[in-house]
Amino acid sequence: MKKIFWLIVLYIIFIGNYSFGVQIVYPKSKNVTINSDKTFFAGNESPNRTLKINSKKVNLHPSGGFRKAVNLNYGLNTFTIDNGKEKVIYKITRPKQVNKTDITPSAIIYKNSIFISIIKDNTPLRSTPIDKGFNRLQHFNKGIEFEAIGEERGFYKVKLSRDDFGFISKDCASEINKKNLANANIKALEHKTEHNNKYIKISLDKQVPYALSESEHGLDIVVYNTDNQFQKYEDFIEGKPFGYTSYYNDNNELIISMKKFPITDKKNPLKNIRITIDPGHGGNELGATGCLGTQEKDLNLEIAKILKNKLTKLGAIVNMTRENDTFVELNERVELTNNFNSDIFISIHNNSIPDSAADKDVTGTELYYFYPQSRELAKILAESISQRTGFKNGKARGQSFAVIRNTHCIAILAEIGYLINPEDNYKLINKDFQNKITDGIIDGLEKYLRQ
Ligand SMILES: [Zn+2]
Repeated sequence: MKKIFWLIVLYIIFIGNYSFGVQIVYPKSKNVTINSDKTFFAGNESPNRTLKINSKKVNLHPSGGFRKAVNLNYGLNTFTIDNGKEKVIYKITRPKQVNKTDITPSAIIYKNSIFISIIKDNTPLRSTPIDKGFNRLQHFNKGIEFEAIGEERGFYKVKLSRDDFGFISKDCASEINKKNLANANIKALEHKTEHNNKYIKISLDKQVPYALSESEHGLDIVVYNTDNQFQKYEDFIEGKPFGYTSYYNDNNELIISMKKFPITDKKNPLKNIRITIDPGHGGNELGATGCLGTQEKDLNLEIAKILKNKLTKLGAIVNMTRENDTFVELNERVELTNNFNSDIFISIHNNSIPDSAADKDVTGTELYYFYPQSRELAKILAESISQRTGFKNGKARGQSFAVIRNTHCIAILAEIGYLINPEDNYKLINKDFQNKITDGIIDGLEKYLRQ
């Protein structure tokens, strides 16, 4: 028996250590094209080896993880990864720069306005003719009509009132055969408070564009193309928003509903708060790969499950967008959150970096929000997670991610750590550390809800 034991020990020492070579998780293959002036190698190797990339020593974390930035020249770049026992060759091609002629057409103003109708549900009305970022004013369903006075970069420039304009992608609307658009008449108006919700119901004789925005006194509402003097009707719901939604019903009634900040039990602030936890990625969608080979989708789920248990024990009513390693579409995640009537949505992720950031020293926790109403929770969570874990506080940032944009509640997305960073990866897979992360999230939620 003793002999067998020692044979196993010898097997682990020699075969385990020496027969398996370096594991490289990024770049994803030995022959790739990368359109950047830099990239990086990330992976792991036995920490007692000396690892070199093109004869330059690579620092190995005690866990064996590493990430090393390299510069890329135009054309073919060859990298030899040498661990003293074997050499692996990586061929990375950086394509030559093509002289791009600026094909962006300048803005056109039509001689006579044309009239268009939305043909896709959830079409964004934007403040600038750019298809990204924070320029969304509102979303509209099929059938809402606009007067277009011109076009720019593939967007119609639409008139909202005498002095207000917006942009709608030409793919989302089609021209209709009309000579003008009649303004809408407001037939009735109703302000109502029910349970924890405040409503405004505006009854119109047709559906016209509108926009919502958050301000110090609450939720501001502008309805365009109505019959008053300035052709826009303005109103607001007073109070600090805790999620809101708006829609037209079949009777041309515009319903705007805002949830009030809940009155919580100071000792037990999470009690009866409805929380949806969204473990990012799943199934075929792996997310980031850590230098130690950790898959983001698995890590996100592990953290989410611990968080669910703790929140449930504290009296929260918890919903998960996935409980297994399955693929869930982004819209489905949004629907699951909205149908649950969630108060708070927390999407759990872990980070990687693009090639262009290869030389940056990335580590720590970042929190993302879309609506101003969610900024405060994002800030508090960045701080509370960082306090418990010792991770760098990467602060709260605005970002237009679908899951935090289309959910009608306080919604944040947490990038807990950088899986691509050896130290972060090493910590993130540790169970005690995962407990610190989830305790940090709970500290932050309690602090936020106690106010
Ligand atoms: Zn992710």
